[in-house]
Amino acid sequence: MKVLIVGGGGREHAIAQSVAKSEKVDKIYCTPGNAGIAALAECAPIGAMEFDKIVAFAKEKEVDLVIVGMDDPLVGGLVDELEAAGIRAFGPKKNAAILEGSKAFSKDLMKKYNIPTAAYENFTDPDAAIKYLETEAKFPIVLKADGLALGKGVLICNTLEEAKDGVKEIMLDKKFGSAGNEMVIEEFMTGREVSVLSFVDGNTIKTMTSAQDHKRAGDGDTGLNTGGMGTFSPSPFYTKEVEDFCNKYVYQATVDAMKAEGRPFKGIIFFGLMLTPDGPKVLEYNARFGDPEAQVVLPRMKNDIIEVMEACIDGTLDQIDLQFEDNAAVCVVLASDGYPVKYDKGLPITGLEEFDKHDGYYCFHAGTKFDGDQIVTNGGRVLGVTAKGKDLKEARANAYAATEWVKFDNKYMRHDIGKAIDEA
Ligand code: ATP
Repeated sequence: MKVLIVGGGGREHAIAQSVAKSEKVDKIYCTPGNAGIAALAECAPIGAMEFDKIVAFAKEKEVDLVIVGMDDPLVGGLVDELEAAGIRAFGPKKNAAILEGSKAFSKDLMKKYNIPTAAYENFTDPDAAIKYLETEAKFPIVLKADGLALGKGVLICNTLEEAKDGVKEIMLDKKFGSAGNEMVIEEFMTGREVSVLSFVDGNTIKTMTSAQDHKRAGDGDTGLNTGGMGTFSPSPFYTKEVEDFCNKYVYQATVDAMKAEGRPFKGIIFFGLMLTPDGPKVLEYNARFGDPEAQVVLPRMKNDIIEVMEACIDGTLDQIDLQFEDNAAVCVVLASDGYPVKYDKGLPITGLEEFDKHDGYYCFHAGTKFDGDQIVTNGGRVLGVTAKGKDLKEARANAYAATEWVKFDNKYMRHDIGKAIDEA
């Protein structure tokens, strides 16, 4: 069959690699893709929000299945448009992708269906938000723009003054555009964070192995928030007890809630959990694979990804026995120095061929492109270097060893990815 993947980051490269392993697939396309994905797929320069062009491309190439990897096109309704054109697509429809697209919606859903999460209030009026902060809020407090904001729409404020400035930034100055038309003000929680990805077919949910990411730019969780600087899987903090709790109160409850709301969810639900002293609570939902979480979870999956995705579309996920290797994986992101603020692009990258010579090592491309025959940097997060190992410590040592294979000017990485493993 022919598969089209929509997106062009490390996540889509990891998806492409899993798709390439499927015996069912004989041709992969990717829009827009990147220099790494180009080794597995025919890439076409179509943006993820160019829905008409994507639909026309899928028709022209007689694509059998479209996999939408990114949040913006999912929240914008790409799956609905593909299905309307008679093209099979993997991912939630617009009315279900709202689970990620609106934090006010997801908070109200959790409240209505008793899914554990931080206490909160939603606001559409900045004056009402400020009055709430002045009269009722306890600090620190968390401000969240309602809509998609590239992972940057969350502000943790220690004082009333900071929080008032935050309301202004989000709701009046519209730093995150229309994502700030509404805002969630949420109780500050403490605890370790764990990410759990899952496949969902509208009724049934099957969770994947756990992971943990590192959002801050600098070692020791310092510096600005980024799209993610590295990740490891499984998380040693995701114990049987935590899993049992989430099976009982979070996972199926979320799927059932979406169904009860007339918004059946098919695709990937990403649960961002915080393991608080009062038990696990949901920090956020995403409606797609996490990036870089996909880069440590997918290489460990034993199933044929196409079979699992088709089961999600057909409502037969209950018949799938989802299995993961009994090992570990660590991903270290190689970024351009200066990310996430200002950085150079177009710098030649060498050493990538080493990954073809070693089993269990992967170099997922995020911000890369071809300049003639030479692969060059083309973004803040450039590559995700993933390695497996028999346990987390071995995987971490392997991943850091492999980061040395790759060379480009301005190469930057965190040196403490997976340090939490030592505390487990
Ligand atoms: P992304 O989509 O990139 O994962 P996002 O913009 O949807 O991020 P959240 O995941 O909701 O934002 O929050 C980002 C980070 O802010 C969390 O990973 C967590 O570290 C912190 N955070 C969010 N909510 C809270 C909270 N209530 N208490 C403490 N920290 C929080």
